[in-house]
Amino acid sequence: MRSRATRVIIGLVMALVALFTYFTNTQENPVTGEKQHISMTPEQEVQLGLESAPQMAQEFGGLYPDEKVQQSVKRVGEKIVNSTSVKTSPYKFDFHVLADNKTVNAFAVPGGQVFITAALLDKLKSEDQLAGVLGHEITHVVGRHSAEQIAQQQLTQGLAGAAAVATEDPNSPGRSSAIAAYVANLIGLKYGREDEIESDQLGVRWMIESGYKPEAMIEVMEILKAAGGPNRPSEFMSSHPDPDNRIERIKEAIAKYKK
Ligand SMILES: [Zn+2]
Repeated sequence: MRSRATRVIIGLVMALVALFTYFTNTQENPVTGEKQHISMTPEQEVQLGLESAPQMAQEFGGLYPDEKVQQSVKRVGEKIVNSTSVKTSPYKFDFHVLADNKTVNAFAVPGGQVFITAALLDKLKSEDQLAGVLGHEITHVVGRHSAEQIAQQQLTQGLAGAAAVATEDPNSPGRSSAIAAYVANLIGLKYGREDEIESDQLGVRWMIESGYKPEAMIEVMEILKAAGGPNRPSEFMSSHPDPDNRIERIKEAIAKYKK
């Protein structure tokens, strides 16, 4: 039986190890210039993305069968990649239309595999709007947002383990898991919002640099806001509670990047 003091010390050591690992795994993002806490290499991201892509596609009914539609989406995605500094990133981009015609969504897995559902594609009224969706998802890839989330999860798990040990109390078994859930939620929420804003704003920048109308990003927000039902919100809307504030931030980016 460990004494309370011993449990607290073990908990503190575990927390320090988790924090040390997280804060020493620092990399500068070559596209955004941002200092990030990431434990994976870009090669590992590409590998993880290629491995998870078929399973992700399966979740949305597999690939949309019309090859012409697939090619038209790839063409827009490649135009953005090749006209911007995204081209200098270590990622291999590919763009896919998913067969799901009910779920309005687009998402990217690490390393460059980008997906849009047939349902969302059907709601878009212009190539500029499609460029807005793809530009947003491209930023999640070059911004390394998934890799950051993975590093945060590793930190959270480390801290949760530490909290569980330090607060281990046979009289209140629910206590440590409540703290762990609180920590996980707090970290997850904060970074999610920043990532969405960055994806909107750099998405606007890629649109301008590749010759698309950046105002179409605002139209995309309005389309998604109108389409968003209570269940399965799109990737775009899931982590940000205030679409109007987001539209303001998009307008700021348009003013900043448009010359
Ligand atoms: Zn997003």
